[in-house]
Amino acid sequence: MNNLSRMEELVGLLEKEQTLTDSEFSEFFDILADSCGEDADRRVQIREEIPAARCTQEEAILYAAARRAREKYYGSDVYLRGLIEFTNYCRNDCKYCGIRRSNRNVQRYRLSKEQILLCCEQGYSLGFRTFVLQGGEDLYFTDDMICGIVAAIKERYPDCAVTLSIGEKSRDSYKAYYDAGADRYLLRQETSDPLHYRYLHPQELSIENRKRCLSDLKEIGYQVGCGIMVGSPGQTRDHVMQDLRYMKKFRPHMVGIGPFIPHKDTPFAGEKAGSLYDTLHLLAVIRLMMPDVLLPATTALGTIHPAGRELGFLAGANVIMPNLSPGDVRKKYLLYDGKICTEDEASACGRCIELRVRKAGCRVVYSRGDFAGFKVRGQ
Ligand code: SAM
Repeated sequence: MNNLSRMEELVGLLEKEQTLTDSEFSEFFDILADSCGEDADRRVQIREEIPAARCTQEEAILYAAARRAREKYYGSDVYLRGLIEFTNYCRNDCKYCGIRRSNRNVQRYRLSKEQILLCCEQGYSLGFRTFVLQGGEDLYFTDDMICGIVAAIKERYPDCAVTLSIGEKSRDSYKAYYDAGADRYLLRQETSDPLHYRYLHPQELSIENRKRCLSDLKEIGYQVGCGIMVGSPGQTRDHVMQDLRYMKKFRPHMVGIGPFIPHKDTPFAGEKAGSLYDTLHLLAVIRLMMPDVLLPATTALGTIHPAGRELGFLAGANVIMPNLSPGDVRKKYLLYDGKICTEDEASACGRCIELRVRKAGCRVVYSRGDFAGFKVRGQ
């Protein structure tokens, strides 16, 4: 049987069973490696509106199945999350991250509660109904301060969801933020493999604690997002398989994946970036394994290719996270080199995003965009 027919069979199985056996997965990834590498002949035009949206026949089968799966739960809707990067101080020293503690070239900043509320005000008037507060692990922000910020946003904008992405905390802290009104939490596991985790992170961080955090968050009642960087240094196919199995079992509400991109002031400065195609393949696989999951087309994907996010939608993504941070701090939240959207103003971002989403045959929906079927507190 040739690659194409086998791909059709395996994608059919994945669509029906939402998983594959180890040997089927290994065949599936072999076919992708054989026929869909960086320099493959990409002749199939997925959408005329996006000249870069070209793929191999194998990819066309995979992406079409992923779009069908997305449509079952979310139609062609794409949800917006307004990202507020409120601090670039971090106590951690993750080897891949540009805002790691030991990077002395970072100009550190913190937004005040008032500045955060101003970002929300601007975002709200642009139609955003989810605010994502993301930052390094910055102990300056005590639990009381985080709770105060969350409560103030919820008081002013009760129709909005608040997502936190501030790293590893105790269960009590997570519970306090939830009680203050936080709805969702993003914490990528980065890799499920203990040795690979060790390789990417400082000694004091462990995959056991990361998984403990994710379980606590889910038990408390958050909509939880996990995820990985695609092509992170040392990542093997086996690691990716472990991540897929871990996520399938964990049942996250969101999965954030984007390519690893090196940052010049980190120990991984000389490493290769993750590939566009590996990321798109994985987006589609995740959509097929967890059809109802919320799946962002990430900024990192838009950074490695000008049409990366549009391609992400064509491979099954349904969320986009435009930046609402004030213009003067955007360049200081540099997780990796070349990060896009550090120049634009929030309103310009909104128009650009609308256009990209529309070109990919989807539509921007200005609602909270909760996980399909999720019972939201108080509603
Ligand atoms: N401190 C919080 C945490 O660790 O979850 C949130 C901020 S952290 C900077 C957000 C995400 O950025 C990480 O989960 C990581 O996957 C991603 N990231 C960091 N450095 C990156 C890089 N060099 N390339 C791609 N993604 C990166």
